[in-house]
Parts: sequence; C-alpha cells; structure tokens
Amino acid sequence: MAHLLQSRAGRLLAAVLLAAVAAACARNPVTGSRELVFMSESQEADLGRSADAQIRSEMGVYEDAALQEYVARIGNELAAVSHRPDLPWQFTVIDSPVVNAFAVPGGYIYLTRGLLAYLNDEAELAGVLGHEIGHVTARHSVQAYSRAAGAQMGLLLGQIFVPAMRPRYGAPGVGDAAGQGLGLLFLKFGRDDERQADRLGAEYAIASGWDPHGVGDMLTTLGRIADTTDRRGTPNWLATHPEPADRVGGVAGTVETLLAETSDLSALRVDRAGYLARVEGIVHGDNPEQGVVRGREFLHPALRFALEFPVGWEVHNGAEVVVAREPGQDRYMLLQIAEETGYDLQRTAERGMAGTGFVEVQGTPSEINGLDAYIGTYTQDVRGVGPMIARVAFIRSGSSVYLLGAFADAEGYRLVEREVHDSLHSFRQISRDEAERIRPNRLALYNVQDGDTWQRIAQRVGDEIVSAATLAIMNGYPVNEQPLPGDVIKVVQPGS
Ligand SMILES: [Zn+2]
Repeated sequence: MAHLLQSRAGRLLAAVLLAAVAAACARNPVTGSRELVFMSESQEADLGRSADAQIRSEMGVYEDAALQEYVARIGNELAAVSHRPDLPWQFTVIDSPVVNAFAVPGGYIYLTRGLLAYLNDEAELAGVLGHEIGHVTARHSVQAYSRAAGAQMGLLLGQIFVPAMRPRYGAPGVGDAAGQGLGLLFLKFGRDDERQADRLGAEYAIASGWDPHGVGDMLTTLGRIADTTDRRGTPNWLATHPEPADRVGGVAGTVETLLAETSDLSALRVDRAGYLARVEGIVHGDNPEQGVVRGREFLHPALRFALEFPVGWEVHNGAEVVVAREPGQDRYMLLQIAEETGYDLQRTAERGMAGTGFVEVQGTPSEINGLDAYIGTYTQDVRGVGPMIARVAFIRSGSSVYLLGAFADAEGYRLVEREVHDSLHSFRQISRDEAERIRPNRLALYNVQDGDTWQRIAQRVGDEIVSAATLAIMNGYPVNEQPLPGDVIKVVQPGS
C-alpha cells in the first residue's frame, strides 16, 4: 500500500488516447492475416512496459528469487518456441493469494502464488504459461485492449474520484482504482480466443519438451475451483477465463494430435517432485507484509494498524489500496495512504479531496482510538449515478496519514451509515507484539498415511484455514476421491 497517484488518471488518459487514435493495420503473428488493431508493435511494447510497472507496484512481486527464476526459466523456454520469440518476455510471480494468471501486451506474463498452490507439476505450470504466451502471440490482449479503449473513453472522460468506487469487475477497468495495469486484468477474452490460447499452450509445451496434458490438467483443476463455493477474492482467473471445464475437451484433440506426431513420448517432462519441491514453503493466503484479513479485521503488521470493515463485505487487499465492497452493491470502503502535505489534517483532507469532484458538506477535527483524525462528509453529482456521498476519515498513525472512506449513492449510503461509522472508528494502532504474532500460512508437503482423508488432514491443519474440498482440488483430485497412502501432497502450515 502506498500513495495512490492522483496523476495516474492523467497518464491513463494519455495512454488510452494514444492507443485509440493510432488505429492501424497489422499482421497477426499466429494467423498471418491482416487485421485492424489500435496499436503498433512499439505502442504494444510501451503499453506493456507501463502496465508492468503498475502491476508490480499495485499487486506486489513475490519475494523469492529462486522461485521467480524457476518460473522465468520455464516461461522463456516456451516463449523461445512460440510465434514471437523475439519479444522481451518477462515472467513474474505476483504476491497475491487469488488464483490468477494473465498477460499484458508486449510479452509480460504474470501468475499469482495463489495459482501456484493449485498446480501439481511442471507440465501444468508450462500449460498455464503457454496459454498466457498464446494470448500474447495471437495478439488477443492487443485486440481486447483496443476494444476496451474505445468503449472506455466515455467512462474515463467522466472519471471522478479514486475510481475504486466503481470497479465493476468483468468490465475492462481502464481508469479503475487499480489503474490501467489492473484494468488489463479484467479484459475478457472470447471463447474462441481462450480455445486458441489453450491450443497454442499445448503446442508450445510439447515443442519445448513438456507433456501437453498439463494444459488439460490445469484446466480441470480450475474447473473444480469453479464448482466449489470456496473461491475467494476477485479478480481471478475465473472472472476472465470462462468455463475451464468445457475447454478440457476442446484441447484434448489438439493434445492427441500433437502426441501422435511425437516420436519419443517417454522423454516428455512432467516433473511432479521437482515442482512440489519448488513451491514448498511459499506463502499461502494473505502475506502479512501487505496486510492480512483475519475474520472481519484487516491487520497490517508492517504499518502497525488494524481496522474492521462492515460485516460480510468482501475485502480486496491491493498493494496500494484496500477495497471493501458490500457484495452485489455499489457501496465501497477504501483505505490508502494519503498524500502527506506537511500541513494539519484539515489541510491534508482538503488537498486529498481536491480534484476528486467531491465537495465538503461538513467536517470536523476528531480523534479515533487516540489517533488524530479529520472526518468529513462530501458529496457530488455523478453523471449516470446521481448524488453520491463520501464519508472520509483522514487519520494520522505512525509517520503516515491514512485515508479511510466510504462511497455510495445517497440512498445506499443511508443504509450503511451506521456500519461505516463503526468501521471508521475501529481504526487502531497495534503493538509491536501483536504485529509480530501475525505470521503467514505457508504451503508444506505431507506424506499421506493409512486412514488419511481430506477431511482428517484439513482438520489437523484447522479447517477454517483450508477446507477438505480445497485440499483435494489443490492436489489435483476430484473432491470425492481420497488421497492414497504414500502420496506426497501439498497442505497448509498455519502461521498464526
Ligand atoms: Zn486465457
């Protein structure tokens, strides 16, 4: 979490305008046919670079050099046999518990540590990376981004406050809180694009020596996640990759064809043991360095504060902004570090709200759990929404000023006013001791014993940390099939 750059809106607009006006014909590297795209190769590279910088700062890179190198090595082997071997390919593991992988134009591929927990061998990892490489080589993201750029222009021009207020997941969120980089995350590809990426993934996998069944296997696992009620966190792979289960059959034919053309099947790599050894010990769930959600409390041990969001609200812990949302409603709370002005809190609040379009209706210097604060009510008329209300507290804690606010249309605000009040007033500093007790959960390996069931293993870990169904899916099993004694499986080691 750091400053949410207000100038981002300006830079975004410039980038989108650039992309939108530069409509040009280009040859598709995979199909060879000419098509209308809104971006040249060099614009694609520029867009990729700036999105990459935002993704890294917004989402955070997972700090584990050996793991990053491992993923990059496999990614680079696949990219080298792809249709665009000369792009400046880059592969990054993002420090996020959600299950996701995505590509941005220009050759930047990301996967979350949350996804790594659900893969079970190197062939599956190659399948995911190959799939994302396929989106780039077939220029899917360029095409989708071009469509989004056009559609989003109006929205962007009317853009108001920190856009986290309206992250309509599923719609390409150019200009969302999350910014352009995260906007790319929400790009939805069509079914045909997905199938093509699956096929390309299988092709690239076998061409670099991995068993192409990995593509179908990882799709099977992702399909199982879709079937459980256990998924957590948005955005995720499922939000942008529809119907993984349906695609398993789609890619199976390609895999059989590829295998029929391969002379030495036994040489194809799967490497389960090697993969498991690499992911053993990685953080599972929230990382305390970025703040953790425990029950309804959000705790940030590094910045030493805690607060409670309203009961039942979904909390999305971004690297720069924490967004809580009432499920199914356009009512949000957000938390971020405010720009430090060096002035008193009232001036900091004035400066923080300036340029957002919100006008102060009422505001008072206040105190929250012993911390200096300034709490104000703001309003503005938003085109297409009507009057909106923001109730925002600027709170000084440690060496930072935090902006903690709620945003809703006027009518919706009345419904949550009480909860918002309680949430604003729950902000507190935590002691060094309390901070030190918050440790991350980690992936561990476990030898399945006689009589073990997913249920029993989950209970041993603590099933509020990981359910039996999740354990089964994480390990590549259908939920109704038990592990076999002697199997080495991934489990979760509780931290605190
Ligand atoms: Zn895809």
